[in-house]
Amino acid sequence: MTLNKLTILSLTFITLLACSCSKTEESVTGTTTTSTDVPAVYKKIYGATSITSDGTYIYIKTNNLPDHKSAYYATSNALYEAYSGTTFGGNTFKKNPNTIAEYNATLKIPLNPKVDASHAATPLGAIGIAINGVALFNQYAGPNNQALAGEIVSFDKYYGHPQNTGVYHYHVEPLYLTTVKSTKAGLMGFLLDGFPVYGPQEENGTTVTSSMLDVYHGHTHATTDYPSGIYHYHFTADAPYLNGSGFYGTPGTITQ
Ligand SMILES: [Zn+2]
Ligand SMILES: [Zn+2]
Repeated sequence: MTLNKLTILSLTFITLLACSCSKTEESVTGTTTTSTDVPAVYKKIYGATSITSDGTYIYIKTNNLPDHKSAYYATSNALYEAYSGTTFGGNTFKKNPNTIAEYNATLKIPLNPKVDASHAATPLGAIGIAINGVALFNQYAGPNNQALAGEIVSFDKYYGHPQNTGVYHYHVEPLYLTTVKSTKAGLMGFLLDGFPVYGPQEENGTTVTSSMLDVYHGHTHATTDYPSGIYHYHFTADAPYLNGSGFYGTPGTITQ
């Protein structure tokens, strides 16, 4: 072996070492880049652009594009799929005039969520994020907190739809997540106050209804993700579907 070859080998070895060092600082889960100081439960958010933490807050970046087919993608998009049939609540699907657009946002949520006696009302627009990076909205339709009833017919086959600027979102059970990516009892995402959101069933198979939850639409018990117990919201088939009378905890922020 010549000296030159040895030098190249050593350089390659050093480069490899350098690469493996930098790889310990972040890992890629699905399409999400996650820093190592982020607790494992947040790595279930597979559709975010990145997830980082400063020890006090978790920062979740998203482009908000659903990873499933929708009648609301532009017909030129590979994920476009025409749909006619029934949607949430057995309603006949009726498409709204909007088209899915990218919505780049960063959610800043408390790493250690805490109850807040003021229970701030949830705003219109994003109040949380689903594990596929899509926004979660509350039980009202804009602009004056009208009841959601008129909008439900426009939920697509996976129970989401875009608003007038193209921001796709779920007000109710995200069917792609509860049937394809996870289960009815799985972690579905987080609200801005940092408390997790679960599907419409408990891990023992019990279907959750609003009457089993408090006015914020949650309750406290252990889950696989949180063996020592945590307050959490549930999606339910009955109104208010995801959140009731405001956040249980102190909400973080969402910036564009
Ligand atoms: Zn909506
Ligand atoms: Zn529960």
